[in-house]
Amino acid sequence: MKLFKSLRIRIIAFALAAGILPIAVIHLLVVSTYESRLIEQRRIDILQRLSVIARQLGDEETLAESLTPEKTETLNWYADAYGGRVLAIDENCRIIHDTYHMDQNRVCVSDAVFSALSGSDYQNYRSGEDLLEFVLPVYLEGAAEGTVTGALVMSSDTSWIRGSVRSVANGMLLAEGIILILLILGVVYVSYLLVRPVKAVSDEIDRLNEGNFNVELGELKSYSEIDTIMKNAEQMVDHYRDLEESQELFVSNVSHELRTPMTSIRVLADSMKGQDNIPEAMYQEILEDISNEVERESTIIDDLLSMVRLGKGSDSMNISTVNINDFILDMLRRIRPIAEEKKVELIYESFRQVSADVDEPKLSQAVTNLIENAVKYNKPGGFVKVSIDADHEYFYLKVADNGIGIPDDALEHVFERFYRVDKARSRETGGTGLGLSIARAIILQHYGVIKAESEVDQGTTFTVRIPLKHVRDTGGRG
Ligand code: ADP
Repeated sequence: MKLFKSLRIRIIAFALAAGILPIAVIHLLVVSTYESRLIEQRRIDILQRLSVIARQLGDEETLAESLTPEKTETLNWYADAYGGRVLAIDENCRIIHDTYHMDQNRVCVSDAVFSALSGSDYQNYRSGEDLLEFVLPVYLEGAAEGTVTGALVMSSDTSWIRGSVRSVANGMLLAEGIILILLILGVVYVSYLLVRPVKAVSDEIDRLNEGNFNVELGELKSYSEIDTIMKNAEQMVDHYRDLEESQELFVSNVSHELRTPMTSIRVLADSMKGQDNIPEAMYQEILEDISNEVERESTIIDDLLSMVRLGKGSDSMNISTVNINDFILDMLRRIRPIAEEKKVELIYESFRQVSADVDEPKLSQAVTNLIENAVKYNKPGGFVKVSIDADHEYFYLKVADNGIGIPDDALEHVFERFYRVDKARSRETGGTGLGLSIARAIILQHYGVIKAESEVDQGTTFTVRIPLKHVRDTGGRG
């Protein structure tokens, strides 16, 4: 049932049950004890009086003789006083006096009378008929062996007890009703207080869902459990805020980067506009520049697309076992012409044969970026050394150069999107500032790590560590 899943309804239900149950038990206990106490008292009362009368009736040989008008009067009075009927029965089971004057002289046949005549008492409470019944033998006074001259039968109405119990019960019910109403009001109020923080949390999270990140979750402290939830939620919100900020930053960076070549093209085109006699050579040169800018624009777009594709996470990985040595040699072969052009020497160093589970095209893109950077940000006559090593868990790629290096304060930013140490130089070399962030993303998808060390004018070394098997590194080595 959905309603019962509500925390508030549960609190109310449990509190009410915990309150009502004892009240009901106490009610029943008090009422039934009270009723049985009254009946017991009545029983003792009647028995005492009746015994006295039975003793008084034992003063003659027969009950009939003993039953003087005076004693008959006592019997009548006594029967009236206890709201009942008394029969005096002689030893032949004949009724010699009936206070109701109904069964006079009849013979009364019952087991209780027979056993009374042979000397035993009989008592019974018939709760269904509200009757207390007694049958007592009348012993002949002074007779040694307990001669019985007759019996007294008494039945007494106890329906008044029921009435008295009912009035007590009603009084109790009234009090219980008042307690119950107070209990309900109290429980509803307390449940409201208890559930209020939970409700507040859910309201705030609703507002979060509506995209309102300015909620103050820290304000809602109440229970330690809720504090924990809030702490987690706050972290989540911070994370979202960061994400949103970085997304905004990214979009503004992208627009800026895309606009830069456009602006150049516009300036170049404008420079030709309105000029009649542009020399052929200049014309060619401007067109060449425009073409370069278009090329640059498309490089940026390509890099952006790679990034978007990488954003899909490691699900989109296409893993196969690759010989890393051949893989690097192949890459160096492709880059060699560019290196030669820049008069940079490419050196290959391998400590062992390595094969590993990687996404070949992706890793190729990452390592190409590293090697191309090492060539680009180098000096004529410099070198780039790519080395391969491995242990039983990881393989290590090192791309070291003796180029221009990266200043310390810039080193921590080089993996950020669009970050360039020297804007002018990077532009000159056709950099987009995305290469290293793409490389890092790819290496992370391989559950690997990348580190950079550098010294200005001495050179830079990028070290990559990737697990041989494509499984997440769970511990130990950093
Ligand atoms: P870019 O497209 O500008 O090369 P990257 O993300 O590949 O962008 O690199 C970011 C910046 O890091 C570069 O602009 C450059 O300033 C610096 N950098 C990268 N690799 C090297 C290197 N091997 N030597 C010196 N500086 C480098």
